[in-house]
Amino acid sequence: MNKFPRSAYVHIPFCHRRCFYCDFAVIPLGNNVETLGGYGSKTVKDYLHYLYKEILSIKHKSSLSTIYVGGGTPSILDPKQIKGLIDLFKENYGIDYGAEITMEVDPASFNYDDLRGFINAGINRFSLGVQSFNDQILEKSGRRHLSEDAEKSCLWLKKVYESGLIKSWSLDLIQNLPLSGSKEWNDDLKKAITFAPPHISIYDLNIENGTVFKKLLEIGKLKLPGDDEAFKNSESSNFILKNSGYSRYEISNYCLPRHQSRHNRVYWSGFGWWGFGQGSTSSPWGKKLTRPRVSKEYKKWVIGQYNQNLDSSLVSKDFIYKEIDEKIMLGLRLKEGIDIYEVLKEQNWGNKKSKINFSKLLKEWENFIESGLLLRKGNRFFLSDPKGMELSNQIIIAMFKWWDKIN
Ligand code: SF4
Repeated sequence: MNKFPRSAYVHIPFCHRRCFYCDFAVIPLGNNVETLGGYGSKTVKDYLHYLYKEILSIKHKSSLSTIYVGGGTPSILDPKQIKGLIDLFKENYGIDYGAEITMEVDPASFNYDDLRGFINAGINRFSLGVQSFNDQILEKSGRRHLSEDAEKSCLWLKKVYESGLIKSWSLDLIQNLPLSGSKEWNDDLKKAITFAPPHISIYDLNIENGTVFKKLLEIGKLKLPGDDEAFKNSESSNFILKNSGYSRYEISNYCLPRHQSRHNRVYWSGFGWWGFGQGSTSSPWGKKLTRPRVSKEYKKWVIGQYNQNLDSSLVSKDFIYKEIDEKIMLGLRLKEGIDIYEVLKEQNWGNKKSKINFSKLLKEWENFIESGLLLRKGNRFFLSDPKGMELSNQIIIAMFKWWDKIN
């Protein structure tokens, strides 16, 4: 844990408008971003100024093997602005040969020329937020794009991938959106596969506080697939994708061979990363630090860090990772699971303490092991697929109980 992070996440908070399920740190620029000056607006330029400052404020820079430009909607930016960002890392941190550089893109926020511009700027992997190919579902979810936009974007990405201009791309869908019953969900999955994306992320809809969905749910005006249907949808995802050659390497992620997201594996595996931008979280030495979610506060924070000559994300390079519960939770999301003893050893728990607490954890997990939801090979534990992966929450909650008891 005392090595310098080799991965960076950069948050671009701009969106056209807020989708009904979204609680991210975003700044809606208007349906037609051009009305507010779009990528050339003072709001965007101002933000980039502070973001650059934050990126430069790190003293202990070392070359990066993954960069992830997420949001928000980073594709609202001009390719020149994306190039500026990548060049900033190149000149100040260094970017490894063969590094994975991902950018999130949103249908209807870019065209083919922009895509070529992003590639020329250095992006070699894209993550496309399709969410659904069904216009009614998209509208009900407050998405701005239409199915037609999503299909067009998929075809562009397929084309640049097949011509070797990028290394990979991901098609992202959300499971259990309103109106998305079994038929609609199966249609979405089958449509997704026709574009042969090397990577597919399937996110489960979460109803977050403060969102339109939450309010609609409270007044009884949001109809979502019931538990049985939601479970059936998960089973379909697993069945259809696996039959099409995808393997599930993490609870929400499927890919063709050699297309796992290297950047995301950094989060799940508990390695350190830099995080930059409003609302983003960094974890350079194991301890997490989240930046203010509101623009004004974020800018104030950046100036404060800069003036005090502090590394913005840096806590202490000798910091020992204490959040074992989180490490186990993240490890369990992965297909290969986690070696619990290794985690305890990393914390210098010593044999006796490890043994006692390990057996307490086993007690909490006993039923899941017996029912085959959780599998064990030596000290390595992993979820069975699909049943364990679908019901992972129960296993994780039992682990949190263990953690609470021993603390
Ligand atoms: S586009 Fe993405 S980040 Fe922006 S509001 Fe919608 S869900 Fe949130």
